[in-house]
Amino acid sequence: MPETLSYDAVVIGGGPSGAIAAEELALAGWSVALIDRAGRIKPCGGAIPPRLIRDFKIPDHLLVAKIRCARMIAPSRQKVDIHIDNGFVGMVNRGEFDEYLRQRAVSAGATRMTGQFSRIHPPEAGPWRRIDVETGQERGLPVQQTIRAKLVIGADGARSQVAKQSVPGADRGKTVFAYHEILRRPQAQQAQQADYDPDRCDVYYQGEISPDFYGWMFPHGDCLSIGTGSMDKGFSLRHATGLLKQRAGLDQCELLRKEGAPIPLKPLPRWDDGHNVVLAGDASGVVAPASGEGIYYAMLGGQLAAKAGLAFLKSADSRDLRLARKTFMKAHGRIFFILGLLQRFWYQTEKRREQFVKICRDKDVQQLTFDTYMNKALVRHRPMAHLRILIKDIAHLLGFARA
Ligand SMILES: Cc1cc2nc3c(=O)[nH]c(=O)nc-3n(C[C@H](O)[C@H](O)[C@H](O)COP(=O)(O)OP(=O)(O)OC[C@H]3O[C@@H](n4cnc5c(N)ncnc54)[C@H](O)[C@@H]3O)c2cc1C
Repeated sequence: MPETLSYDAVVIGGGPSGAIAAEELALAGWSVALIDRAGRIKPCGGAIPPRLIRDFKIPDHLLVAKIRCARMIAPSRQKVDIHIDNGFVGMVNRGEFDEYLRQRAVSAGATRMTGQFSRIHPPEAGPWRRIDVETGQERGLPVQQTIRAKLVIGADGARSQVAKQSVPGADRGKTVFAYHEILRRPQAQQAQQADYDPDRCDVYYQGEISPDFYGWMFPHGDCLSIGTGSMDKGFSLRHATGLLKQRAGLDQCELLRKEGAPIPLKPLPRWDDGHNVVLAGDASGVVAPASGEGIYYAMLGGQLAAKAGLAFLKSADSRDLRLARKTFMKAHGRIFFILGLLQRFWYQTEKRREQFVKICRDKDVQQLTFDTYMNKALVRHRPMAHLRILIKDIAHLLGFARA
């Protein structure tokens, strides 16, 4: 049995949330271990907003595409193109993006370790918490490494084991399951037939593609991500993706990878265990309802978990760990609530999906949606636009609006 290693903090999971948390802690001068099981690229559409690129200083070379138009497609196949006039949505390949963030944490001073977290020990009387990590195999048996730390950050994604083992109620969080295929981008003639544009994202609001979420086609430079998600366990995501490829005219493109993963639906009611564990990113449930956007929120969650952890390391008062959730919900709780209502109402029937796409033709709606997405804040300086949207929304709802 290898000797127990000691660090001020251990971060479990080397996705965007864990990598940012480890970087922040290391930059503040604490000893940090970043543990990731490695070997699997996170299934993800890879769309990131300008606010993320700005706040987390993402270099341009990681952006494999810059999206300047979003196309919404209704059940009737009516299309609405929303042009992004003052910026773009970045596209990243998660293999390279996550590795870049992990390297950044190492450059800041974090120790990187490859292994699978298996167990967190109960809280002890002193400042330490022990965790077990499987770091490999010897003669067919797992090699176990025990690590002790004063602070543990659980950033091990949706259905987090750290959360399940340490935070009460964490195992009751609901998820959407999402599936996508990575295809080689269509060549010139095929692209024309398919109406494929490498600078445009296509979003399908059609019941056959998803009964309660949406289907997407996101260009990624020399490849693209096409897929769908649903909460309905009986719904075949693979079949729906096949249908989506046909509708998009991309069914002849070469298949490079296919994969799926759960997306959490709601922030957990607690992110800390009242001792020395705090959660971040998907492990804490922070993916935006309606859009399924999680990378920005995961990175912010990692940063806030590190900030709360820094306060706790200095004070030894576990109440400081609550700061992570409190600060996050203050900034984004309202947007999550509104997006949750939007998904629950507009994504439920074919008629409502049709109306929803119709509403998106409205310039005020387009402006507000993109301002909010790009900058991650509800725009408060245009109260009249909000009022107009509300009136139009009600008109559509009651069926008074003209097509
Ligand atoms: C199909 C799909 C498409 C998506 N598209 C988008 C999109 O376009 N834009 C967007 O913003 N969001 C998207 N999301 C959501 C986004 O991928 C997540 O919200 C984001 O990856 C969360 O980051 P994270 O660091 O919290 O978790 P993850 O990225 O899941 O990282 C968790 C890390 O922990 C590691 N880990 C897990 N268990 C263990 C263990 N026991 N021991 C050691 N390591 C472990 C994993 O290997 C992984 O590296 C999508 C999700 C899916 C499933």
